[in-house]
Amino acid sequence: MEIFFLGTGAGMPAKLRNVTSIALKLLEERGAVWLFDAGEATQHQILHTSIKPRRIEKIFITHLHGDHIYGLPGLLSSRSFQGGESEVMVYGPKGIKEYIHVSLSLSQTYLKYPLTVIEIDEGVIFEDDQFTVEARLLEHGIPSYGYRIVEKDRPGTLLADKLKEAGVQPGPIFRNIKNGETVTLEDGRVLEPGEFVGPDQKGRVVAILGDTRYCKNALLLAQGADLLIHEATFSKGEEKLAHDYFHSTTHQAADIAKCAGSKKLCLTHISSRYDRNAWHELVVEAQEVFPNTEIAEDFKEITIPLK
Ligand SMILES: [Zn+2]
Ligand SMILES: [Zn+2]
Repeated sequence: MEIFFLGTGAGMPAKLRNVTSIALKLLEERGAVWLFDAGEATQHQILHTSIKPRRIEKIFITHLHGDHIYGLPGLLSSRSFQGGESEVMVYGPKGIKEYIHVSLSLSQTYLKYPLTVIEIDEGVIFEDDQFTVEARLLEHGIPSYGYRIVEKDRPGTLLADKLKEAGVQPGPIFRNIKNGETVTLEDGRVLEPGEFVGPDQKGRVVAILGDTRYCKNALLLAQGADLLIHEATFSKGEEKLAHDYFHSTTHQAADIAKCAGSKKLCLTHISSRYDRNAWHELVVEAQEVFPNTEIAEDFKEITIPLK
């Protein structure tokens, strides 16, 4: 499980930071990539990476500001020409359906794969046997969602050597134990699965937030997260500006990470008023509040290790 930043700038494309798009790479977990937002030229950014558009399974849109969605129609269209045949699900605020429909129909774009667009409300918006995705509204002037991606715990691995020591050969009994069943052997011995299966593999939690002011729902989404990705459009001391423009400062993002007990924070959506030399300053000031902070850069990857 890795986070890969395709665009990390605020508002407009800048030379060193394209507008927002974040890939959650779940290649080992499910052979898929999930995208969060698709600012203009997201597909151009993807060209410089190993990400295959046909692997994109889900796209979560945080809000409908242009710097988060202008790359979506082009990306969806190109995916057809890049071998994409599997379904894509797009989740986003009310209006996302009309935006996609109008862009694709007026340009007479026909996709060779099924596309489903879901206009979401707060709550659990996706769940399968591997993951749950929960959405909550943030504070950004227009509806802007934050997403909390929770990987489900997985049963531990079978302790095959220990079973063999107990005189059990690989076969149906191995399977039964792995499935959590108590097995009685022919000689009357009872094997409890707890003794022959390792501890549960704990699932990981990632919180990816749309543009927002400092707000309570950000705190709820970030609760205990292994990685929190929070916007920091402005530096500390610019709280008034951040409030007026519905954005956050480095200190505010760090405060959310700290109060929520997140393990790691990555700042993104960085204004182009901060040049490369200033980026380090932004990290340092966030670290005053929450030490385990990094700053996103285009094409930077962060691995979320198994626990
Ligand atoms: Zn934005
Ligand atoms: Zn915005």
